[in-house]
This record gives sequence, structure tokens and C-alpha cells, in this order.
Amino acid sequence: MSPDEAAAYLAEIAYHLRHKEDPHRARAFSKVAASVLRDRPDLDALHRAGKLESLEGVGAGIAKVLRELVAENRSAYLEKLREESGEPSLVAPQLTPLVEQGYMGDLHTHTDWSDGGASVLEMAQAAQARGYRYLGITDHSPRITVVNGLGPERLAGQRRVIDEAQRRLGGAFTILQGIEVDILPDGSLDLDDDTLASLDLVIASPHLQLRMEAAPMTERMLRAVEHPHVDIIGHPTGRRPGSRAGATYDFEKVFAAAARTGVLMEIDCDPARMDLSPELGKLALEKGCRFSLDSDAHYVDQFVYVDLALWMTRKAGIPTERIVNWLPVEGLRKEFAQWPPSG
Ligand SMILES: [Zn+2]
Ligand SMILES: [Zn+2]
Repeated sequence: MSPDEAAAYLAEIAYHLRHKEDPHRARAFSKVAASVLRDRPDLDALHRAGKLESLEGVGAGIAKVLRELVAENRSAYLEKLREESGEPSLVAPQLTPLVEQGYMGDLHTHTDWSDGGASVLEMAQAAQARGYRYLGITDHSPRITVVNGLGPERLAGQRRVIDEAQRRLGGAFTILQGIEVDILPDGSLDLDDDTLASLDLVIASPHLQLRMEAAPMTERMLRAVEHPHVDIIGHPTGRRPGSRAGATYDFEKVFAAAARTGVLMEIDCDPARMDLSPELGKLALEKGCRFSLDSDAHYVDQFVYVDLALWMTRKAGIPTERIVNWLPVEGLRKEFAQWPPSG
């Protein structure tokens, strides 16, 4: 069994475990899925040698699942979890690496300018090493003081650092400077228009006060979707399966508005988020939305979150034509150009 295939199974198991409010085991499965993707061990050889437990983070329980996967190409444990969640239909695991399927770059990542653990250059080099053609650096806005969010001055400083990194990486790879700006409770954004206009890419995300009543929450999201500088709505509900329900609002109305204004809905692939869910992704698709599929990585080893969540887009029935990460950088730039076009 290939590492990609095994990782897809393990990631789906983790997803179900989170919904069963077993975040501890969920994290253990997610971690092994990520390390299998990163280290690409020969699982068949390890199985023959009886050494699956030598893999990082693999205890007796996960080893049992892996043994069955390698030997029989299935997991009774996953089938049981699917059954319990009322989703017994099988989603084919992914068989080929992400870039071979046409994924060109990640648009939502953090660096040590806010709460990430790596520098701009380290993140960009790691993305390039994965075969990506571009990377969106989208640190937090000032409101989130606990994570050292960026205002206009620090953004200007970061732009210089990005330009320097860009020179070192050459023209075949593009770093886009963006921001993950907070959607405030009244639907306004946490940075002024001029600052937002100076960036290549604007992700607007709800982080705080997610338990608002549905009616004001709908107004809040509509205002963000109709904002002329917003390109993407990040993790649109803010949920954390197993620990925090996301915001509830008139999804049909907000998705229809996003389809009209051309604002993308994100599928945030962080295993702790998985937001939009496949169910809401399907609804957004029906309303005419397009999507971005991002890791929300806070460190270089988290880019693999996208690989691990790709099955969600399949489950939602979203074709890659509707996901902007399949576009080359010129197409993206057009996508994120100011709206309405100035001049
Ligand atoms: Zn966020
Ligand atoms: Zn983020």
C-alpha cells in the first residue's frame, strides 16, 4: 500500500474520531498520517518484517489498523466508524501525490510574523520542495493580539522580507503576500481599505464571537462577502469538530452572495478544523461557489494537511475546476485583482 493511500485512510479515521469527541486519539491518527506522507516509508516491507510499530507515533492500536490496511486493503475500524456516523459510503482513497493531481499552491499559511513557527523563506522553500508554484503568506491581523497580528507598518516590513525571499527563490515560484483579516462582529474588517488594497490576497475569517444569533451572524458574513477587497472566506464556520461547534447562519444566502461577488469559500484542511465540512461544501457548490483548498499551516510540516483532506472535496462532489489552487499564478492574480476593477 502506498503512503498516500494509507495516509488517506488514517486521516479519515481521525476525522470520524473528532466527531466522536475523541480528540486525543484523533490527533494520534492525524500525526501518523502526516508522518507517513512526509517520510514515505515502505509499508509493505515494514509489514513483512513485523516492524510497523517502529514508525513514529504508532502504538499497538494504530499498528493493528495499518497491518490490516497493508494486508487487506481495507480497515474494519474505519468501516465501523463510517457506519456509526451514518456515512457508510466508501470514498476512494487518494492514490497519487497532490501536485501530480494538479494542485499548484497553498493560499493560507502563517509564519513567525504572527503565530507560525517558521520564517517566510523557510515556508516558501518547503512549499517549493513540495513542487508548488506559489504560496500565499497570510498572517493574522492586529485584533488577535495574542498572536502578534500585523498592522500596516509590520505588513510593509514583511513585504520587504518577502521580496528578499522571492529574489532568492527565482521566478519559477511566487510568494503572494496576503493577510488573514478578522471579520469583526459587525461584519467590518480588522484593517483599513488602503492596507487591504496593497496586498496580493485577502482572506477574511471569523475567529471571535462565533455563537452569535443566526440573523446577525448572517449579516456579519454577508458584509464580509460583499467587501470589495475580500478574496476568500477562511474556515467559514470556525468550527473545531469534537470541541467547538461552528457559527450558524443562513448558509444558502451567504453562499449565494459569495457566488455572485466571486468571493471564494475556503476548505481549511487543518485536521482540527476541516471547515467547510463536506456537507456544507456540497451546499456551497450547489449555490455556485468556487473554493480554495488550503492547509492553514503554521509550520513547514503542516502543508500535508491538504493531502489529508482532499477526500473531503471528493465527498462534497467538488470538481477541481471549481478550486482555484489548480490555477497557475497568472490566473490567480486575475482572480484576486481588485474588485470592482479600478480605472
Ligand atoms: Zn484562522
Ligand atoms: Zn489561519
